[in-house]
Amino acid sequence: MTHYLVVGSGLFGSVFAYEAATRGHNVTVLEKRSHVAGNIYTKEIEGIQVHQYGAHIFHTSKEEIWHYINQFATFNQFINEPMANSKGKMYNLPFNMNTFSQIWGITTPKEAKKKIDEQRQVLQGRKPSNLEEQAISLVGYDVYETLIKEYTEKQWGESCKNLPPFIINRLPVRFVYNNNYFNDKYQGIPVDGYTRIIEQMLSHPNIVVHLNEDFLANKQKWAALSDKVIYTGMIDEYYDYCFGHLDYRSLVFKHEVIDQANVQGIAVVNYIDKEIPFTRVIEHKHFDFGKQNKTVITKEYPVAFEKGLEPYYPVNNPVNSLLYKKYKRLAQAETAIVFGGRLGMYRYLDMDDTIEQALLLVKRELA
Ligand code: FAD
Repeated sequence: MTHYLVVGSGLFGSVFAYEAATRGHNVTVLEKRSHVAGNIYTKEIEGIQVHQYGAHIFHTSKEEIWHYINQFATFNQFINEPMANSKGKMYNLPFNMNTFSQIWGITTPKEAKKKIDEQRQVLQGRKPSNLEEQAISLVGYDVYETLIKEYTEKQWGESCKNLPPFIINRLPVRFVYNNNYFNDKYQGIPVDGYTRIIEQMLSHPNIVVHLNEDFLANKQKWAALSDKVIYTGMIDEYYDYCFGHLDYRSLVFKHEVIDQANVQGIAVVNYIDKEIPFTRVIEHKHFDFGKQNKTVITKEYPVAFEKGLEPYYPVNNPVNSLLYKKYKRLAQAETAIVFGGRLGMYRYLDMDDTIEQALLLVKRELA
């Protein structure tokens, strides 16, 4: 039997720990935060499951992943149908016939396509060279100005003219009246919160969890106590930034309890205008059709990543991709440590991708 040290109790580390433990291996999990579950951590406040690190909606079309996660949770019927507030007016997202009708007063897909086609003519068939041109080529000028420009500039702290086109390669545009943000077959929110899922995974008797323990502060000690390390922290930090820092975007979340039953009438509202410093407001009770007398909202402020903040979104531009390749080469030469999860792989992973990646590692490592 092997003794695994899993660094990080997020979804990736916890799936691996559970699978190793159920196969008879011993697992020590180290977590530098004061709680388990990483970024999917939810905390009950006023009887409402509050998503502490941003709204998390489980969605997947992968049959086996859906069955896997259902071992640990019961999901409700939540469908994500976010709204956007632009200059005080509400619009449906993702861009669909409802949005086009709100912007142009049109009613048919033919009229919407005609509008978009007319507005993309400004590019005269040129390949988009920046995010602004990319957006106009996909949805036309009016949708870009009303719903994309200021939001994206807040999010990235940069003019759309200076941002690369690939950021919005896959902008969802639909010529049907359908506000469901995701195209996946399965979607929902776990009724007891995400933390409960992780607690169940880590409650196996072969698993010991240490909270408030930073592996990198005592690397040698912890590594010596185990046969193999599964590391889900930042790969550049592990190697002491020897090739330089990988870039991330970060967010600050401000939670508020409000003595009111219903503040915005929906779980997610995006705020487009540049004068408003936050990009989204989440009203958590609507994820679970809550009927409590009070409500909890979270405002999401995009900020540049710096030490002390959470690295939320990897910036996968050519410079960072090259830098990551260098770290990956070092990682591939290791025999006693494996890197995984969104930080170890320097890749944005949805929850279903995270589980899939962890199960692939299980196959390679524990077959
Ligand atoms: P994490 O959850 O980050 O876990 C890594 C853990 O390692 C952390 O707990 C960290 O504290 C710990 N750690 C790091 N370094 C050390 C160290 N040196 N010592 C000890 N511990 C350490 N996915 C969806 O499917 N749907 C959504 O709606 C969705 N919304 C999202 C919204 C936001 C704002 C963000 C940022 C992500 C969202 N995701 C969503 C993605 C989801 O959060 C990830 O798939 C998931 O959290 C990845 O899990 P992980 O284990 O790889 O990483």
